[in-house]
Amino acid sequence: MSATSSSDTVVTRFAPSPTGFVHLGNIRTALFNVLLSGKHGGDFLLRIEDTDQERSKDEYTAALMEDMRWLSLHWARGPVDDDGKPGEYHQSQRLPLYQEYYDKLEEVGQAYPCFCSAQRLAVLRKTQLSAGQPPRYDGICANLSKEEVEKKITEGQKPTLRFRVPKSEEVTFNDLVRGDQRFNSDDIGDFIIRRGDGTPAFFFTNAVDDGLMNVTHVLRGDDHLTNTPRQLMILSALGIRHPEYGHISLIIGDDGSPLSKRNGSMGIREMREQGYFPEAVVNYLARLGHYYADNSYMSIEQLAAQFDASHLGKAPAHFDMVQLQHWQKEALAAADDDTVWQWLGEAVHKQIPADKKELFLSVVKPNIGNPQEGLDWANVFFTDELIIEDDAQQAIDEAGKEFYEIAAKIFTEEPDFKAAIKTIGAQASKKGKALFWPIRAALTGKVHGPEMSDLSVLLGVDEVVARCKRAS
Ligand code: GLU
Repeated sequence: MSATSSSDTVVTRFAPSPTGFVHLGNIRTALFNVLLSGKHGGDFLLRIEDTDQERSKDEYTAALMEDMRWLSLHWARGPVDDDGKPGEYHQSQRLPLYQEYYDKLEEVGQAYPCFCSAQRLAVLRKTQLSAGQPPRYDGICANLSKEEVEKKITEGQKPTLRFRVPKSEEVTFNDLVRGDQRFNSDDIGDFIIRRGDGTPAFFFTNAVDDGLMNVTHVLRGDDHLTNTPRQLMILSALGIRHPEYGHISLIIGDDGSPLSKRNGSMGIREMREQGYFPEAVVNYLARLGHYYADNSYMSIEQLAAQFDASHLGKAPAHFDMVQLQHWQKEALAAADDDTVWQWLGEAVHKQIPADKKELFLSVVKPNIGNPQEGLDWANVFFTDELIIEDDAQQAIDEAGKEFYEIAAKIFTEEPDFKAAIKTIGAQASKKGKALFWPIRAALTGKVHGPEMSDLSVLLGVDEVVARCKRAS
């Protein structure tokens, strides 16, 4: 990367259009940019691309900022207002500035007004397609005289503004992810940079702002790959330095189609509500389409230090719930007791006696992935409403009445839980799974879970005996 070897500060950005709530794919893009700037001690900026005033909503910007803050994706430059109210880093506030650049292009003859109707353009497109040609503007308005333009405007016609694409030029760039890219300018055709209603085309403002905001590296979705030659031509015509671009592949669901609600995607807000740790989401997303040799649980700083744009995959990345759960478990294991306690929430707090809190946390932490599972265990230990799962019921039935009578008697007499189990095994002639499962099943209603000896301490001997009696 040239910019990293020079003395320039690496500047990356995330430039969402606030037309909906962000999903995992958007946030992963933001994260990769945070990691890339973090790696080089650079700046990450957030720019809100809200020129589509009908579809853009402050509500989405506010939610996006909340999600990013929750994940610790902090921006050095960008909106400051928690409500996401329009400010300097909102494109809707920068329209007069874009106008200056339109004027500049027109002055140097690199842009011209086009009066072709949508209908004419549709017919042109159809004709070209049926002749097997790529659809592109035929340049009818490219050479209108000043007088002709003025006349049409006086008649009330509202032109679009087209960029005059240089003839027969090869536009090349080295994509940070996909390597060498080549486009022939003749395949592109003069394109619209400002619509008839005066609103700017997204890729114009996007390119101009990257240049003006000194962005050095752009990692973004590969759906923008074909915008890049246009953007490079615009910036070159304006004499503005362009960033390096890297186009990352999509995330796809386990069924191979683009990630959506149907195949596992969740909004960030939804993940927060379900109890995912932000660190888990970050550790997962950093590896979704980016290879890390180090598979340990890392902080954002550590992830940044080991980030490498050349480790971004060209092929679509598969969303995998199992991996997300893995990082959730890692985050939980790394969290301190206070954090886990807060995370478990009120419903759990109410159930746990103060003197059992510490033990409950250490016993349950390795066995849960979300607060609901914590509540389920709190119910197992501290309420009478024991739900017996099917395989536990089967273990109870197989062990039989006599087994539990022995167990109840021994647990009453022998205070050492491990010794008690050994004696029960000897008296009932059972060992291994045939011994442990029925005891576990009677005590918890499940055949898997925390260490047996921990269970006994949490329940207390009276409850252990009572549950054995209930199973008999
Ligand atoms: N506003 C564009 C989008 O959300 C930004 C694309 C880019 O990152 O350059 O798709």
